[in-house]
Amino acid sequence: MWKTIIEPFKIKTVEPLGFTAEAEREAVLREACYNVFNIPADKVLIDLLTDSGTSAMSAEQWAAVMRGDESYAGARSFFTFESAVRRLTGYRHVLPVHQGRAAERILFSVVGGPGKTVISNSHFDTTRANAEASGCEALDLPVPGALDFDTPADFKGDIDLKALEDAIRRIGTPNIPMIVMTLTNNSLGGQPVSMANLREVSRIALHYGIPVIIDAARFAENAFFIKRREPGFSTRKVPEIASEMFSTASGCMMSSKKDAFANIGGFLALNDSEWAKKAREILILGEGFPTYGGLAGRDLEAVARGLEEVLEEQYLTYRIRSIEYLAEGLRRAGVPIVEPPGGHAVYVNVKKFLPHIPPDGYPGQSLVCELYRTAGIRAVEIGSLMFGKNQDGRFVPAPMELVRLAVPRRVYTQSHIDFVIEVFGEIARRKEALGPMRLLEGSQRLTHFTAKLMPEPA
Ligand SMILES: *Cc1c(COP(=O)(O)O)cnc(C)c1O
Repeated sequence: MWKTIIEPFKIKTVEPLGFTAEAEREAVLREACYNVFNIPADKVLIDLLTDSGTSAMSAEQWAAVMRGDESYAGARSFFTFESAVRRLTGYRHVLPVHQGRAAERILFSVVGGPGKTVISNSHFDTTRANAEASGCEALDLPVPGALDFDTPADFKGDIDLKALEDAIRRIGTPNIPMIVMTLTNNSLGGQPVSMANLREVSRIALHYGIPVIIDAARFAENAFFIKRREPGFSTRKVPEIASEMFSTASGCMMSSKKDAFANIGGFLALNDSEWAKKAREILILGEGFPTYGGLAGRDLEAVARGLEEVLEEQYLTYRIRSIEYLAEGLRRAGVPIVEPPGGHAVYVNVKKFLPHIPPDGYPGQSLVCELYRTAGIRAVEIGSLMFGKNQDGRFVPAPMELVRLAVPRRVYTQSHIDFVIEVFGEIARRKEALGPMRLLEGSQRLTHFTAKLMPEPA
């Protein structure tokens, strides 16, 4: 077979990149209070801030958009959407929402609350925020190897099964409304969860009578990793593997801005009729009537089509290869990364890359700013700015200092990625000159979206 894996598409619509001069970028950074979420997108050359809502839609998706039925109730597009979600997940009740966090807010309003603990392989930041906002505790139990970023392993997204059972016995079944399995594990490197782990979680959960809910944002990438890496799956079809993954749980929360190629959208799908009834009431209160749930009919069509396209093997082969390609280039440039690279992003291990900047100098944010300053590349910090805490006036750092380079789906070509690798090589040669940042203003939850910083004066 051929060695070169190619993009399995050709480009039909193009959009210019945001070229800027270096002096302008320094001013843009200052204006943005050194928080790249505040930078206007047309001042960004290569945008690796997120893979969320940034996918290129296919000609078929755009055609489906034109077929969208915008009826308030009972729109044809809803039934197309509902059957696509049912075919994929097998879950009975399908509630459209405007994006993943709406599904989280609704589900935690139904099952969360004070005194409760939700257990996960790792809660994503909005999932944790919604759990805590409901008054419940969000407990992460990743496998011990998950935080060892240098040692690659096939399924670092797995939950620690022994810790899970210990926690269930300690906390008590009545206080645990659900176990959330995040596929892939976004907070800890986009690492996949194995089918073996999902089956064991399902068995334990059944034994104790606790429902399992999947955070399915990147279900297709997870399914493809299972096919590639897990014994017994290499000849199975990816859609079949995905269905089996969903069969280990009784519901899911989905951000269609990830593995559905849509620019907006999501859903909550549940087997439990009582939960679904309560969820529908909250849906009507905040999102919309249950057959559109905060989306236009055309969005429902785009998601329905995207859920099928994302499971195509040629696409997934290209997708995973393109992330590996970026990872190989960074390794060659001497940049330490979380090993192995994830399904949607490469995570730079900044603790190792910039050891001279302590956690309270936000080394990840220092690198994020330097990437923008040097070449207009936008990335995101996943470290003490995102997860650090201030407890009684004392700074508590995050367990990791990472910078995530998330790759939008079907958007950038290989030469865009070559450029990113070249920029990293240049920064790596003068990395000792990067200095700490000072946090001027934060907020209680999801600080990284609104924080204001400045470079620490030399
Ligand atoms: C993005 C994401 C969410 C939240 O979805 P939004 O559409 O951004 O609200 C939840 N969980 C995971 C794992 C995600 O990546």
